[in-house]
Amino acid sequence: MSDRRDFLIGAAAAGAALVSPMTSFGASRTGRLTRKGKLVFRFRPYTLEMKHVFTVAEMSRSTTPAMMTEIEFDGLIGYGEASMPPYLGESHKTAQEFLSKVDLSTYDDPFQMERILGDVDAISPGNPAAKASVDIALHDLVGKLLGQPWFRIWGLDAAKAPLTTFTIGIDTAAVVREKMKEVGGFKMLKVKLGKDNDREMIETVRSMSKVPLTADPNQGWQDRQYAIDMAHWLKEQGVLYIEQPMPKERIDDLAWLTANSPLPILGDEGIQRLPDLIKAKEHGTYGGVVIKLMKTTGMREAHTMARLARSFGMKTLIGCMTETSCAVSAASHLTPLIDWADLDGNLLIKNDIFEGMKVVDGRIVLSDQPGIGIKKIA
Ligand code: MG
Repeated sequence: MSDRRDFLIGAAAAGAALVSPMTSFGASRTGRLTRKGKLVFRFRPYTLEMKHVFTVAEMSRSTTPAMMTEIEFDGLIGYGEASMPPYLGESHKTAQEFLSKVDLSTYDDPFQMERILGDVDAISPGNPAAKASVDIALHDLVGKLLGQPWFRIWGLDAAKAPLTTFTIGIDTAAVVREKMKEVGGFKMLKVKLGKDNDREMIETVRSMSKVPLTADPNQGWQDRQYAIDMAHWLKEQGVLYIEQPMPKERIDDLAWLTANSPLPILGDEGIQRLPDLIKAKEHGTYGGVVIKLMKTTGMREAHTMARLARSFGMKTLIGCMTETSCAVSAASHLTPLIDWADLDGNLLIKNDIFEGMKVVDGRIVLSDQPGIGIKKIA
């Protein structure tokens, strides 16, 4: 259960938070926003508790540190979130340090998103998840001010939202069979690979389900001949694409694989932000990109990357970390624009505090509520 008093406030904004924002209403001849006030930014640490110990090629874990954020303006609150799987280098400590430097009290127009988010990005390099938590909250607020959900503001058709995958982590065949009972109505499954039981993982899942599969070795394959052999075998098994098969530094091997693989090779760990996408296109490293808000610093750059990748003729996937329905719903607004979705992060945790995007019969159903379309439930 959260309470407003749990929130920490960026140092420079502390004074502003103690007094109610100055507000006024009224019609404007130009139809411009007439609500007035200062932006007040708050954040608090949160720990996501996972339903199962989650194993990928690098490691196992049962919790994920997160930051919950709010931007308040004239009585409206926009919600945001940073999810910080430890292997990405951010933590409660780094996010707290970064967010303490975010002073939104100097802005009185939340629609100045380019300037505000540019200023936040310039505070320091790195910290993509912490930056995303500000970006998401600002998008939620602006959408609420406009009274529209972001897929509509972006001009996207909710009916084009794709199927989404449910992820099966690496485990013994017995545990995988147990996890398969939770698959429910999902019409696509993502299988984590990259340890020593790749074929067993796929065969176990295949023995229990006929739906299309996707594969994610998380940089776990070291040998490019093994990788290309697996790509051919996975295609026969009904796999649609492979995420980050080899270490991100191996760009020549990845480019060779991309050129020769019968399945699209998508860059995840190897493509974080916009400049990485452009480099990947120039080098031919990947045939597609995995976009995640926690890598891109939020919705704004993710939207740009999705549109640029399409213009490059690259495949697009929108994914997530383990996240509450806040960040997952924020990402969902991009799904009518992309080829594939992997937005199950909220289903992997026990302590979600929001309700938003839904998955019905394996397909993403966007919330038509304003902003990122979420409701606080705890
Ligand atoms: Mg991945």
